[in-house]
Amino acid sequence: MAIFEHPSFDEHESVHSFYDPETGLKAFVAVHSTHLGPSAGGTRFWRYENSDLALRDVLRLSRGMSYKNAMAGLKLGGGKAVVMKPEGDFDRNALFTKFGEFINSIGGAYYTAEDVGMTTDDMRTIRTKTKFVAGLDEGDAASGDPSPITADGVFRCIKLAANKRGLDLAGATIAVQGLGHVGYTVCRLLHAAGAKLIVTDINQQAANNAADEFGAKIVAPDEIYAQTADVFSPCALGAILNPETVNLLKANIIAGAANNQLSTPEIGLALQDRDILYCPDYVVNAGGIINIAGEIEGNYSPEWVETKLQGIEKTLGQIFDLATETGRTTDAIADEMARARIGR
Ligand code: NAD
Repeated sequence: MAIFEHPSFDEHESVHSFYDPETGLKAFVAVHSTHLGPSAGGTRFWRYENSDLALRDVLRLSRGMSYKNAMAGLKLGGGKAVVMKPEGDFDRNALFTKFGEFINSIGGAYYTAEDVGMTTDDMRTIRTKTKFVAGLDEGDAASGDPSPITADGVFRCIKLAANKRGLDLAGATIAVQGLGHVGYTVCRLLHAAGAKLIVTDINQQAANNAADEFGAKIVAPDEIYAQTADVFSPCALGAILNPETVNLLKANIIAGAANNQLSTPEIGLALQDRDILYCPDYVVNAGGIINIAGEIEGNYSPEWVETKLQGIEKTLGQIFDLATETGRTTDAIADEMARARIGR
C-alpha cells in the first residue's frame, strides 16, 4: 500500500521496512514524531497475514505512542516496531540479532522496548547490537518490569475519577477485566483502599487467586460488563468498548490499563451520552513508558517516576475540567491536547 496515501499515515516522520533473507526477518519501524525527543515505543512480535496489516498496526501504534508520551510529559516522541513472526521454524536469536542491527541503523531516532510477543531474552539479544533499547532488567539505570508503575498510574486515575464523581473508594465496587501483570496489582491497590472487587479472567487460576487474596467475586468473561459496579477497569484487551458492550455497562466510570479501549471514536460520544466518565487509556496507562523514559533519559529514580505519575493525575484532572466546561468528550480533548503538545 502506498505510504503517503495510507489512511493511518498521519504525517509520520519516517517509516522503515527491514528485510533479511537469511533469518526471514520482515519488520517495520514507524517514527511518528520526534518533536519532543527521540521516539520510543515497544516492538510487537506477531503473526500477520500480510505486510499491509503489519504496516497498519505499526502506524497506528506509533501515533498512539506519540500521544501517550506527550501526555505523560516525557521528552520522548512516538514510535513503534512490528516484527512479522515467520511461518514455520526460525532461529529466534538470529532474527532478533539482525533486528538489533536494523534498530541501530536508524541512529537513535527510535528506542525500542518490550511489547506483545517479546521476551526479556529477545530484548537482551537486541541489546547486543544496539544501545537504543530500554526496559531491561540490568545495566545502567535499568528500570525493570514497568507493570507495577502502570498499575500505580491506573489506581491513581481510578481514585481521581471517583473523586470527580463524589465517590469514596472505600466501599466502592470496581469491576476489573484481566488479572495479568497490571490488572492484578490494580486489584491489590484497590483492595488496600477498601474497594470491593468483581473480577474476570480467561485464566481461572488468576481469578481464583484474586478471590482468595482480595475476597473478589469472580464472574465469567462475558459477564463483566453488566456488573453492578461504580467503576469498570479494562486491563486485558483493546476495542472492548464497542456498541454491544457500552449498552451493558452499569458503571459510571471507566479507567483501565488496556490500550485502544474505544473500538471507534463514536464510542466516546456514546459513553458521554450515558454519562459515563471515560478516562482516556493512553493517559491512564502511561506508567510503564514513564519508567522506561527514566532509563532512556538516564535520570531514573523513584522520585522522578513519582513526579511523572503526579503529572498523569494533573493532566487527567485538566481533561475532566475541560470536558465539563466545553461539553466535549474526554477522549476528543485528550487527542487535541496530545496533538498540541507534539506541534500538530
Ligand atoms: P498480561 O498479558 O499480563 O495480562 C492480561 C490478562 O488479561 C491475562 O491474565 C489474560 O488471561 C487476561 N485476558 C485476556 N483475554 C481476556 C478476556 N477476554 N477476558 C478477561 N481476561 C482476559 O498484560 P498486562 O501487562 O497486564 O497488560 C494488560 C493491558 O494493559 C494490555 O492491553 C496492555 O497492552 C496494556 N498495557 C500494559 C502496560 C504494562 O506496563 N504492562 C502498559 C501500558 C498498557
